[in-house]
Amino acid sequence: MTSKLSNNLFINSGFCDTQDKKYIYFFGGKRVEGNAQMKALLGGKGAGLAEMSSISLPVPPGFTITTEVCSFYNENGFKYPENLKAQVESAMEEIEKIQCKKFGDEKNPLLVAVRSGARVSMPGMMDTILNLGLNDNTVEGLAQKTNNKRFAYDSYRRFIQMYGSIVMHISMQKFEQILSYQKSLARVTEDTNLTANDLKEIIEKYKILIREEKKEDFPQDPWTQLWNAITSVFGSWNNERAITYRNINDIPHSWGTAVNIVSMVFGNMGETSATGVAFTRNPSTGEKLFFGEYLVNAQGEDVVAGIRTPQPISLIERKKQNCTSLSMEEVMPEIYEELNKIRFLMENHFKDMQDIEFTIENGKLFILQQRSGKRSAKAAVKIAYDMFNEGIVSKEQALLLINPSSINQLLHPSIDPKAPKKFLTKGLPGSPGAASGIFVLSAEEAIKEASKGKDVILVREETSPDDIHGMHAAQGILTSRGGMTSHAAVVCRGMGRPCICGAGDVVIDHINKSLKINDIELKSGEVIRIDGDLGEVFLGKVKTIEPEVTGEFGIIMEWADEIRRLKVRTNAETPLDATQGRKFGCEGIGLARTEHMFFGPKRTIAVRKMIIAETHEDKKKAIEEILEYQIEDFIEIYKIMKGYPVTIRLLDPPLHEFLPKEKYEIIELAKVTGVSIDLIEKRINSLRELNPMLGNRGCRLGISRPEITEMQARAIFTAAIRVKKECGETVIPEIMIPLAFSKKELDILKIIVEQVKKEVEETEGCKIDYLYGTMIELPRACIVSNELALTAEFFSFGTNDLTQTTYGISRDDFTFYECYRATGIFDCDPFATIDINGVGELMKIACERGIKSNPEIKLGICGEQGGDPNSIKFAEELGLDYISCSPYRIPIARLAAAQAFILKNKK
Ligand code: PEP
Ligand code: MG
Repeated sequence: MTSKLSNNLFINSGFCDTQDKKYIYFFGGKRVEGNAQMKALLGGKGAGLAEMSSISLPVPPGFTITTEVCSFYNENGFKYPENLKAQVESAMEEIEKIQCKKFGDEKNPLLVAVRSGARVSMPGMMDTILNLGLNDNTVEGLAQKTNNKRFAYDSYRRFIQMYGSIVMHISMQKFEQILSYQKSLARVTEDTNLTANDLKEIIEKYKILIREEKKEDFPQDPWTQLWNAITSVFGSWNNERAITYRNINDIPHSWGTAVNIVSMVFGNMGETSATGVAFTRNPSTGEKLFFGEYLVNAQGEDVVAGIRTPQPISLIERKKQNCTSLSMEEVMPEIYEELNKIRFLMENHFKDMQDIEFTIENGKLFILQQRSGKRSAKAAVKIAYDMFNEGIVSKEQALLLINPSSINQLLHPSIDPKAPKKFLTKGLPGSPGAASGIFVLSAEEAIKEASKGKDVILVREETSPDDIHGMHAAQGILTSRGGMTSHAAVVCRGMGRPCICGAGDVVIDHINKSLKINDIELKSGEVIRIDGDLGEVFLGKVKTIEPEVTGEFGIIMEWADEIRRLKVRTNAETPLDATQGRKFGCEGIGLARTEHMFFGPKRTIAVRKMIIAETHEDKKKAIEEILEYQIEDFIEIYKIMKGYPVTIRLLDPPLHEFLPKEKYEIIELAKVTGVSIDLIEKRINSLRELNPMLGNRGCRLGISRPEITEMQARAIFTAAIRVKKECGETVIPEIMIPLAFSKKELDILKIIVEQVKKEVEETEGCKIDYLYGTMIELPRACIVSNELALTAEFFSFGTNDLTQTTYGISRDDFTFYECYRATGIFDCDPFATIDINGVGELMKIACERGIKSNPEIKLGICGEQGGDPNSIKFAEELGLDYISCSPYRIPIARLAAAQAFILKNKK
């Protein structure tokens, strides 16, 4: 039987649709065309299915339509390349041969699943259709062949429901209502208790619903079903929740999804059939325990959808959860053993913790999907550490198993076990970490309250992919239903949100917007705190403790330090930040923004006095006052850094930023300085700029107000000499000039700095070394870097300003980012991740030209992107010496730097 489909769905696109262009990859029998490395083309699911087939795991046969077809379809007016049709038909024939069944055959029908699968996993965001190929005739054939009418009608009922909602866009709720009604007629609560006749009636009612809603019948032709399903799954790449998920996770919209067509195996054939999901280790804690859930007599979607409460697969887990229903280990011990063997085999083969979907059809086990399991940061660290010690992976491979950004979760406070707290209830520890906030009961409310700056905990019976926006806006999630592999738990672990799931004592009252937990009623606006490590819920805020880089986390960080080449510094100017930076393992300061030292009530007044001073005398007095503050600050920072390099940037922002804005502040300033209000206002007006980011700032300020440069240089040298005298610590300060675009600027300022150095050395009776360098923040600076490098001993890329000036986009007015992201102009925020093609190219030019005229030049990044793993990868490729980032990103940067080194040297 071949496709009857209209040819309108296909076009010949000339050169790119040549006869031998391959659009599908087969797996099954003895033929496997893909492998695990082909994720970009086959999606994660397709590549995994191919790889599993190639190592002879029990995977049903099937084939993958490539992500290229998705892009083709979207770019060619929703049409497919012409020769896709023949390739799909021939692959279907191949499945038919292996399975000894025929697609659409009335006696022995082949049924298939049509499943999405992008390059990276997007759990539950796109569509899947099961049992495709059933119609009024094939269902009877299936019933006869399997001698199981109930199973055949159950499969047909499920198929119509999935097809009706996904392909025909009829509300899922309308199908659910019919199902519930029929259950009440039959006086049963579980779907599994419906008889074949009940299911037959539901099928008739579903068909009527479709006719009424769509004015057409449910399609009986299997090929029409197949092509429509393929189209819907490709289309689901662009559904709202998938787009949101990609936006949240910085996944390019251009990637597209693959479509997998796989021969059906059935977990709903009765008591010897089942379906489940399993993690080869606990994804929340990382413990080496087989972890998962299964349902007897069910199909895949039932486990994650929370329709029935799944049971743990292992006995140990069942006991831990105090679960009364039996585990798979007890009910199906042989199959459990087989699965357990596959668990070790897969970990050793894929060299990572695995997330497996399986189905048992009449006592035979099938693996339907593998992927690297999403895990909490805590679990990621433990798994990497254990897998190395078990000899499964090398140190390098272990480090690559941890997503550096997820480390963020380990750097935030956790609940102090000793703090007094009011315990409310306990659920399953779905995703670790602590969070508190007012409780809200819907995703919309979460977004609304979060947009007002409030911390919220989203409380739901269970979450669905439609809640993704609200989950992202919330600090944490609490659900009353669902297990450890429920949607809430899986998504939260991936997102790094603490989550407690299946807290059965939590009763949600949507009408009164309240919560009842045992005897306690909580009204809207009340604060709760959740502890995702233990699954405990508390009333009100609870005292937390600061994180530490110790234990397995500390060891992983040491491994990263052994391997990485890039140095990691911190951006810090306060003793608190500098101390935190050291605690997290920074190797010096890459950027001390001195203007931040000018804030604080007394200091602000001193700075304002300096700016408005009319006479030389007044100016001198004000400057001397600031000098003392600066010396104090630098001494403290040098001491904390204990000989590590400290890069101090001279004053950068325009002076008007320090002047009063409100009238009462002007009056106050007039009082303390004795200068008239009139004069102060005149001074403020004279300093006002239309475009301050491009105005008198950076080294322009240092040149036009040399007294500031002088004062700062004096403070830097004096403090260094005093620390040397006091503690014997040699400090080699690095003086950094901001926003330079010419050698001349650097030379003029260097003369001032050198003169001050001489004076300080004479006064203090001690010699001092220092480095003199510049920030690279302007395209011109990149181009003339060969000249700059003749004076500068180091370059530090100020990628915030360099991005701003390269794009001509104000970093403070980037209000159109969301629009640009949605339209695909940006794949990610260039102020968060270096734009390699534009800004990166300029950086490359700057490095090459800089090194040419000064081979000894030191190179680093100190913009925000310095703490971003992708930008760190680029820094490694560029051969920079260091990156500098805020203290809380240092462990992330240490790991990312090690990964970047490993990946670069693997190439
Ligand atoms: C930069 O521009 O990247 C930088 C670090 O300086 P600032 O953010 O202070 O302008
Ligand atoms: Mg800057």
